[in-house]
Amino acid sequence: MNAMKELWEHFNEIMRLYYIEALLGWDQQVNMPKGSVKGRAEQIALMRSLIHSRIKSDKTGKLIKDAEKLDGLSKIDLAMIREAKREYDQATKIPDELVSEIARTSSLGHIEWEKAREKSDFSIFKPYLEKIIKLRIEFAEKLDTGPTLYSTLLDLFEPGATYDWILKIFNGMKPKLVKIVDKLNSVSDKPNQSILKKNYDPEKQWQLSLDIIKKLNFDFNTGRQDKATHPFTTSLSSIDTRITTRIREDYLPDCLFSTIHECGHALYQMGFKEEIHETLLAEGCSMGIHESQSRMWENFVGRSKEFWTYWYPIFQNAFPENLKGYSMEDFHRSINVVEPSFIRVDADEVTYGLHVILRFELEKMIIEDNLQVDELPGLWNEKMEELLGIIPPNDREGVLQDVHWTSGFGYFPSYSLGNLYAAQIYKDILKTNPSLPQDYEKGEFSNLLNYLKENVHQYGKIYKAPDLIKKITGEDLNPDYFIKYVEDKYYPIYGI
Ligand code: ZN
Repeated sequence: MNAMKELWEHFNEIMRLYYIEALLGWDQQVNMPKGSVKGRAEQIALMRSLIHSRIKSDKTGKLIKDAEKLDGLSKIDLAMIREAKREYDQATKIPDELVSEIARTSSLGHIEWEKAREKSDFSIFKPYLEKIIKLRIEFAEKLDTGPTLYSTLLDLFEPGATYDWILKIFNGMKPKLVKIVDKLNSVSDKPNQSILKKNYDPEKQWQLSLDIIKKLNFDFNTGRQDKATHPFTTSLSSIDTRITTRIREDYLPDCLFSTIHECGHALYQMGFKEEIHETLLAEGCSMGIHESQSRMWENFVGRSKEFWTYWYPIFQNAFPENLKGYSMEDFHRSINVVEPSFIRVDADEVTYGLHVILRFELEKMIIEDNLQVDELPGLWNEKMEELLGIIPPNDREGVLQDVHWTSGFGYFPSYSLGNLYAAQIYKDILKTNPSLPQDYEKGEFSNLLNYLKENVHQYGKIYKAPDLIKKITGEDLNPDYFIKYVEDKYYPIYGI
């Protein structure tokens, strides 16, 4: 058998181990009794170490080397080798002791972070954060994919992206976003969310969430939706995709938009071409591209007027008392409120990018410029004032709000890149399918999905994100598409 075929098979097995680990995790979050967590944690740790030792084995190294020497490799083969090498390099360059030290510090740090957030007392989390920073810098030095330490960490989530590349994009977008947020907030007759904060029957919310994803062409033959505390999407094989949502009785958007968001992730996972099933390539091309898919369905489609032309009468029928007397336009305004706020996860799609830029700037200083942890809470608040014009009243609503720093750095930019990728891709779709939004008015979404399958989903990880966006739209990632999308959408909503 040739080395390429052997490499494929070797990683088929590794992927199956990953899927088994994912099943253990899915069950833990969806079904497992709380008291059973210890046994499950050990099973998950065992699966991880099995996967880790297979990846770092001499066999992997040899297969990669032999496969690289072969002639006539296809584009997919080359991508497979690239991804196998990425896994192998990481597994062999980072000593096992460092991996377990990071895991230990992260889980302790997580407990202390929860306490610190609860009491809004940064000093509780501080010693753990200092240790995590030290360990992550060591990790970046060892992995050293370059060109800088922070770029090495960013590359874990956005393969091919560097600090300079993201900085240029964010710097192009920052002043424009600040200006737009100011402008929207100077309007006197602003939309508000009061319609959404009534009592909405959880059973009906659940049923509607299923009805919506069915219309969005979520494949119930190879997927299912359940409830969980934190909505997420996971794949248990290339033909088994699970999503979760959560329901708040007193706030309609939580279930509704979590469901659409996760469905967007799931449609991506469901759309990989068969050739790459059960391989390292059966994954999103980057975190940012994955996020572009969830956000496109959630915000570009799910918060559009055309979408609600179809769904609003159905919702009115389900919740006649709550929605009586409100027009579709009223409802549409209420789900598109833009407002500076302290908490990133609650932020609207316009202010969201500013929350991310703040974290990106701080992370760079933490990893590369020896920023002292003591200075973080103050700097956080300064930047909040500079970017959003508000200062958090305490650290719970400031520097302590996110869980991410309990384990590492470099994740946040992907969230915002997702919005930018979505805007640029969506613009391209409308160019070739200008009547697409009229489909939504009829509850018809397959033309959009087919476009995404054809241009994004089928390829999985074959292309790197900066190459994929160029392949689809003919140009590099350009934040101006997002700015234009925001202006075109929100100025009319705000009567500007
Ligand atoms: Zn997401």
